[in-house]
Amino acid sequence: MNQSNKKTLEFIKNSGVNYFLQDKPRNWLKDMSNLPTSSLKVENNEKSQRINKIIEKIKSYNTPLKKTAKNVVVYDGSLNAKVMFIGEAPGRDEDSKGLPFVGRAGQLLDKMLFAIKLSREQVYITNVVNWRPPDNRTPTDDEILEFLPFLQEQIDLINPDYIFLLGSVAAKAVLATSLPLGKLRGSWHKYESLQLNKTIYTIASYHPAFLLRSPKYKKSSWEDLQMLQKKLNEKN
Ligand code: URA
Repeated sequence: MNQSNKKTLEFIKNSGVNYFLQDKPRNWLKDMSNLPTSSLKVENNEKSQRINKIIEKIKSYNTPLKKTAKNVVVYDGSLNAKVMFIGEAPGRDEDSKGLPFVGRAGQLLDKMLFAIKLSREQVYITNVVNWRPPDNRTPTDDEILEFLPFLQEQIDLINPDYIFLLGSVAAKAVLATSLPLGKLRGSWHKYESLQLNKTIYTIASYHPAFLLRSPKYKKSSWEDLQMLQKKLNEKN
């Protein structure tokens, strides 16, 4: 068993769960398998162009956060993902690499994904705010509101089936609520995209950085992850 598998098992054990069921590998491209390769390429090309435009808009948006941050941090993962994971804002590691969730919290996120048989390459990972706030402070309500249109554009571009919100900043931004996570987690919420004219089923759960500080909440986090896994299995 490699190191990362061992750590994942640790995560699952700490969550109060002693076993998890193996199921068949999921074929993510099944729905697309009857599309000619050329149309897939055109779609991917279009998506790459659109995300690059969004990144340019974020970069040119005037915010004092730019003065203290090194790099803009927009996304990691797949533009064709069925699930979007949304965190708060980049930390120090993310700021220096220009990628979301690459520090300690990111390593835990990778294990959480692995525990439900997903990988970074299969999901779309982003944050509410795209520049690191000084000293990793929580983004202000104004900052959340300023960056929200960029997040909404990303949701419309990715067109995910599910959104998994990591922490209360993401929950506040996407679900427009200030209810605590203890009240929000454990059930499905609806995010209405006007552009896509569809409802995206959304879970709000604990942020991996919070889970590192308070491991007793891993059990609830694991339950939330399993809710997502169940929905994904039903779809396949
Ligand atoms: N915390 C976040 O919310 N996002 C990151 O990208 C890293 C840590």
